[in-house]
Amino acid sequence: MAFDYPYLPPDRAILYVGEDNAFMQAAKEEARLHSLDTSMPTGAVLIQNGVIVARAANGSEFHKTHKCERVRLGIPTGQGYELCEGCHPKNHAERRVVERAQRPEGGDVYLWGHWWACTACWDVMIDSGVRNLYLLEGSERLFNKNHPENVVGKQFG
Ligand SMILES: [Zn+2]
Ligand SMILES: [Zn+2]
Repeated sequence: MAFDYPYLPPDRAILYVGEDNAFMQAAKEEARLHSLDTSMPTGAVLIQNGVIVARAANGSEFHKTHKCERVRLGIPTGQGYELCEGCHPKNHAERRVVERAQRPEGGDVYLWGHWWACTACWDVMIDSGVRNLYLLEGSERLFNKNHPENVVGKQFG
């Protein structure tokens, strides 16, 4: 791996699929249709035995009516999500999709729109028995605001 994730549990790895993967396409569609986050829309699907059993997108209405508390406090990207109602991990797609699935254990999560998962989301995925987290190939460039080749702001083309 030529880059470091801001967080990754020591015994876990992130797996990758291409744009043509049907589950990744479904995760992207979920983000496009339902995300309330205008700058970093994400979507996730949870797969059991080859079937999508839950879908979720990120965001909340909070930032429409309130300034982001993390921006106000000058908190770096990827940190302090729990300090802002709008950024809170409960609004993250990969956590929501696990909470929406009736039986998440043994399932795989496909997340579109982000390049790593935060501590709180990994905790939920691990506690509920999720097997693997899949991201889109190149996510560390495409969805990383600090990478010169990112597509943030034009994710949907
Ligand atoms: Zn915020
Ligand atoms: Zn998260």
